[in-house]
Amino acid sequence: MDSSNHPAQVVLIVDDSPTNLELLCDLLDDVGYEVLVAQNGESAIEKVRYTKPDLILLDVLMPGIDGFETCRRLQNLPEAGDIPIIFMTALSDTANKVKGLNIGAVDYITKPFQQEEVLARIQLHLRMRTLHMSLQQEVQERTATEQALQQLTASLEQRIDERTADLRSALQELQQAHLDLLEREQKLHYQAFHDSLTSLPNRAWFMERLEQTIQRSIQDSNYVYAVLFVDIDRFKVVNDSLGHLVGDELLKQIASRLQTCLTDNIQLARFGGDEFIILLEDARDLDRARHLAETIQEELQLPFIVNGYKIYTGASIGITGSSMNYQQASDVLRDVDVAMYQAKVAGRGRYQILTYQMQQQVLSRLHLEHELRQAVESRDFCLHYQPIVALDTGELQGFEALIRWYHPQLGWVSPAELIAIAEETGLIGSLGEWVFYEACWQLRQWQKQFPNLPPLSMHINLSAIQLKQPGIVSRLLQLCQETGLDSQHIKLEITESSFLEAVNSSELLIHQLKKEGFHLCIDDFGTGYSSLSRLHEFPIDTLKIDRAFVNRLSGDSGIEIMRTIITLAHSLDMELVAEGIERTTQQEVLLSMACEFGQGYLFSPPVNSDTATQWFQNASPSIVFPVSVVR
Ligand code: C2E
Ligand code: CA
Ligand code: CA
Repeated sequence: MDSSNHPAQVVLIVDDSPTNLELLCDLLDDVGYEVLVAQNGESAIEKVRYTKPDLILLDVLMPGIDGFETCRRLQNLPEAGDIPIIFMTALSDTANKVKGLNIGAVDYITKPFQQEEVLARIQLHLRMRTLHMSLQQEVQERTATEQALQQLTASLEQRIDERTADLRSALQELQQAHLDLLEREQKLHYQAFHDSLTSLPNRAWFMERLEQTIQRSIQDSNYVYAVLFVDIDRFKVVNDSLGHLVGDELLKQIASRLQTCLTDNIQLARFGGDEFIILLEDARDLDRARHLAETIQEELQLPFIVNGYKIYTGASIGITGSSMNYQQASDVLRDVDVAMYQAKVAGRGRYQILTYQMQQQVLSRLHLEHELRQAVESRDFCLHYQPIVALDTGELQGFEALIRWYHPQLGWVSPAELIAIAEETGLIGSLGEWVFYEACWQLRQWQKQFPNLPPLSMHINLSAIQLKQPGIVSRLLQLCQETGLDSQHIKLEITESSFLEAVNSSELLIHQLKKEGFHLCIDDFGTGYSSLSRLHEFPIDTLKIDRAFVNRLSGDSGIEIMRTIITLAHSLDMELVAEGIERTTQQEVLLSMACEFGQGYLFSPPVNSDTATQWFQNASPSIVFPVSVVR
């Protein structure tokens, strides 16, 4: 055997005969096996436990346990079960051989034995064992590889499953996110075009729809549409007196009643506040619109029950339509609003179809608005000054500054109209400042030019909107400073209603104006709803009695009213100016009632600054208008 490369194989010889042992030892040792010996079964089992031989030569007949028993026990040892065992015995009958082989021996050698045979068999079985072992190892390795492969496959499959599950859930999340996004988009879209209170389409939606309808009518001259603008009568009263919650609920109920009036091709939208708008897309003629307006009015006249309140309301409706040849939705709105307003003015609960004249009025008003804008920019105005005189002496006390606008095409534009437009458009701010500056500047000029004149005051009209402007007091003071006029020469004319509005939003303002030296004058007294006792709470210097009262002085009742006003004003320490005095008799009556001052055509109409300057030049030392002195 080649022992140089491999460790020597180990053979355990179990025999009770020392001769046999020696013989076999020598034999095996010679060919290079490592030899272990045991003289009985027990010590053989013991040896095998510690040194695992590659082969066992086992004698059968031994003292103690015999070879068969030893073999059986060895077979049961886990560390020895696979060691080939060759029986060597003198028992040569077949039954014993079969028994030995059945127990698990690999071979059977009968004694006396042939050395070559013993060697050959040992070598054979050792080779077989080596082969068997390497086969076993290969099998083991393969099994291990297969197992590893199986494990790998299993773990791969698991990973694939996991990844698939991950991907699936990611996909689901993505799909959900997409759905959420779509839903959000739809919701936003819905919100953008619907009113949250009534769930009706809103203004934006309506404008788009109307724009499309107009385009259709432009392309098809036979196509007729109509628009109804529905404004709820007295809604503000309900809202103010019963509260917003009731107001909201009422609007919802109104919306659903309006919906019951609709048929095919009719679109309803909430326009804002208590305004609803309706588009009849295929109106055929205006009769359908008329009929719809009547139905709506009947429906809305029935009482509403909200939170236990029985509420009566109604609707004023404006109507216009394709016969006006509209090109854009904003024009339709402008006109239908005007028609609605006319319906309201006519006494609520009515409908009004826009007429050509109404449209012309609106257009000329818009034109005027445009012109006014430009006039304010280029200061195309001037002031006229109307004298205010002492009723007993006729002596000039001051002037009221009144705005004048001469338009190259329109001629003189009525100040009342121009002020109304300026207030609506917000132009009153800069226009009012200009008036204030100009009037102050003019009086200051006269003061400087004619230093010997007794002190004069300038009455300047202030609109309610001017009073609401933040910082108005300091702005007026600044203008006084710029012109060099002392504020005590200025009497601010504020109409009764403007005054009460101003007081309601800021009482402080009135006191501030007074504190800064301005005189306060209630204009058009008697036309508003204020009572003198309310006005008494504020530092008012002068009451200007409206022209209407002066006009009525010819009758007894007129005289009595005037006397009451004058007496009351005096008892509150206010001075009086009577406006619009045109006749001597009026002056006489007023004088007899101790009204201090007057203004009117009897003395002078408003004049331009040149005329007034001439008066000053000709007067010495003061200007006196002829008055009746009958007391
Ligand atoms: P008001 O403040 O009551 O001004 C008096 C108006 O009565 C003036 O009309 C004046 O010309 C007119 N008047 C004067 N004496 C008589 C008379 O004897 N008989 C008659 N029938 N009328 C007389 P005007 O100038 O047309 O102004 C109308 C209104 O326009 C003014 O009424 C005032 O409310 C407003 N207004 C005029 N200028 C201004 C201004 O600069 N600012 C503001 N905020 N309003 C102004
Ligand atoms: Ca006035
Ligand atoms: Ca007045």
